[in-house]
Amino acid sequence: MGDSVIEMKQVTTRFGDHVVHAGIDLEVRRAEVFALIGGSGSGKSTLLREMILLQRPDAGAIRVLGIDLMGIDDANAQSLRQRWGVLFQHGGLFGSLTVLENVGLPLREHTMLDDALIDEIAAWKIEMAGLAPEVGAQYPSELSGGMLKRASLARALALDPELLFLDEPTAGLDPISAGSFDELVLTLRDLFGLTIVMVTHDLDLLWRVADRVAVLGDGVVQGVGSMAELSKMDNPSIRPYFDGARGRAAQSDLAARVDEQHLKELTSKPR
Ligand code: ADP
Ligand code: MG
Repeated sequence: MGDSVIEMKQVTTRFGDHVVHAGIDLEVRRAEVFALIGGSGSGKSTLLREMILLQRPDAGAIRVLGIDLMGIDDANAQSLRQRWGVLFQHGGLFGSLTVLENVGLPLREHTMLDDALIDEIAAWKIEMAGLAPEVGAQYPSELSGGMLKRASLARALALDPELLFLDEPTAGLDPISAGSFDELVLTLRDLFGLTIVMVTHDLDLLWRVADRVAVLGDGVVQGVGSMAELSKMDNPSIRPYFDGARGRAAQSDLAARVDEQHLKELTSKPR
C-alpha cells in the first residue's frame, strides 16, 4: 500500500436524482494533514462519512488503512473502526459523565483494561489534547467551546488511532482558541505521527496546518495541492478561496506569522 492511508477511486454518490459525487479520486498519505474544502452542499461531509463507514457510495472503490471498505464484513468493520478517531462537529460528549469518564468510555467499550488503568490512560489523553488535569473532573456543561473541542479530541485519541477525522474542528471557536487548536493538530502529526483528515472552512487553519487540500466542486475533485499550489491554479471553483478580502487576509496573516517566526529564529540563534 506504500504511503497511502486512504484511497478513493471513482466514488459516486447519489441521493435520488441528485448526484453528489460523480467520480471522486483522492489519496491521503501517511502522517499528513489532508483537508477537504468546497462549497456548502459539495459533498464534503458525505465523503468523510464514507471514509468512516457511516455511509456507502453507490459505486467506486475506497481503501482505508489497506482495507477495502466496499467488501468489508461486520467483524472487520468493527476492528477497523477502532483504528481511527473522529471529532464530530458537535463534539458528542455525554453531559452526565465527567470529561475523564467520557474519554475513558471507548476504552471501557473496546478493551478489557481495569478501571485504574483506564483512568490513567484517559488522563494522559486529556493532557495530550492540551487540557489541564483538573478538567478531567469537570462536566461538559462547565467547559468553554475550545475546551469542549479538546475534550472531544481527547476521547477521539483514546484508542491510539492511526488516523484522525475532524469535521469543522475550529467552527464556533474564538480566534485565540482556534489559533491554539492549529498547533495541537501539528503536534499530533509531528509527535505522534497521526494522519489527519479534516473538513474545514477556516482559511487560517488551512494555510497553517494543511499539507494538502482537495477542493470539491461539481461532484469531482477540482484540484489537490498545498494552499500555495492551489493559489496558483486558475479554476473557478478554487479561486474564491484566494481572491476577495477573506482569502487575502488569510494569506497575509500567514506571511506575517512566517516573518515573525523567521525573525525569532534569526534573533534566537547563537552565532
Ligand atoms: P457539505 O458537507 O459539503 O456541505 P454534504 O455532504 O453534507 O455537503 O451534502 C451534500 C449534498 O447531499 C447536499 O445537497 C445534501 O443535501 C445531500 N445529502 C446529504 N446527505 C443526504 C441524505 N442522507 N439524504 C439526502 N440528501 C443528502
Ligand atoms: Mg458538511
